Amino acid sequence: MSSLQRQFNTQKAVLRQSTIKYLCPECLRGFPRPDTLYRHFQDVNDEAHKGLRSRKDDYNQFYSCYQKCLGASIPSKCLPKPPHCFELQYVIEHYGKDLDNGASTTSNHVSPNFRTRPVFLDESVQPVPIYYDRQARGYSHRPLHDASTSSPSGIIIECLQSFEHLQELHDAIVESSICGFISQMDNWLSGTLPRVKDASSDSGIIVPSIDIDIPLIPLRDLIYEGIGKYSLVRTSKDVITPHNIIKAVYTVLRIESSGLIGDSRVTVGKSIWVEHQTTLSKGLILLVSIAPIYTVGQKA
Ligand SMILES: [Zn+2]
Repeated sequence: MSSLQRQFNTQKAVLRQSTIKYLCPECLRGFPRPDTLYRHFQDVNDEAHKGLRSRKDDYNQFYSCYQKCLGASIPSKCLPKPPHCFELQYVIEHYGKDLDNGASTTSNHVSPNFRTRPVFLDESVQPVPIYYDRQARGYSHRPLHDASTSSPSGIIIECLQSFEHLQELHDAIVESSICGFISQMDNWLSGTLPRVKDASSDSGIIVPSIDIDIPLIPLRDLIYEGIGKYSLVRTSKDVITPHNIIKAVYTVLRIESSGLIGDSRVTVGKSIWVEHQTTLSKGLILLVSIAPIYTVGQKA
């Protein structure tokens, strides 16, 4: 187990044992009971906490303020009634969710000064850029006509399958095809994700600065079907997964060090389901796919 994974597991255990049952969605302070949480809303005199106070007097104002604080757009009928919407697990699950959707969809719901602070103690984990498919992927979705007319772009449905955290999606055919593609794109990967020279500005996660759509099409075609989202990351340190790339398939394109995702040892070409935030060892290059249907591992 890597040192970060051990710390992460300890944090989870500490949280389970702690008396914190409710979180303020604005400042993420924890409280044991609703009355102590509500007292906190009274005590802090700013717009956000004032809005959170208004849950009885003006539900619409409360609802809009709650979403801004949480950084998540939640349909009003899906929002649990207070105090349940402040429960620890609910806040952790939804905090910053709008960042998953990137700027192209729901950015107008996010407060302009929205902070990208993760719930974890490691303040260095920043969200990574997410790219959107311009047309459906997967071999059963080969376009019959011109790309400009084919894509219902922007429609993303939730993954229909259920996997366990860190479940390996074993698929010998896909893995050998991926290894074949990687041997041709190794230089491209090094150039797209260059190492950071200045150690003080190295956050541990290197992301592309150029368009990565076309070179990654053959790999995405092997992994999933339909309109999905994807990201490409390289780790230069042991890090925790950014919170906007969970509930996703991680496909390993390169291993330069120990090759660990959580406490699972991975090899090049393997795909693994990551349900919750976990640790990534240094020296990995990963294609991260978030899609409605995953085809990798389905025929094995
Ligand atoms: Zn607060």
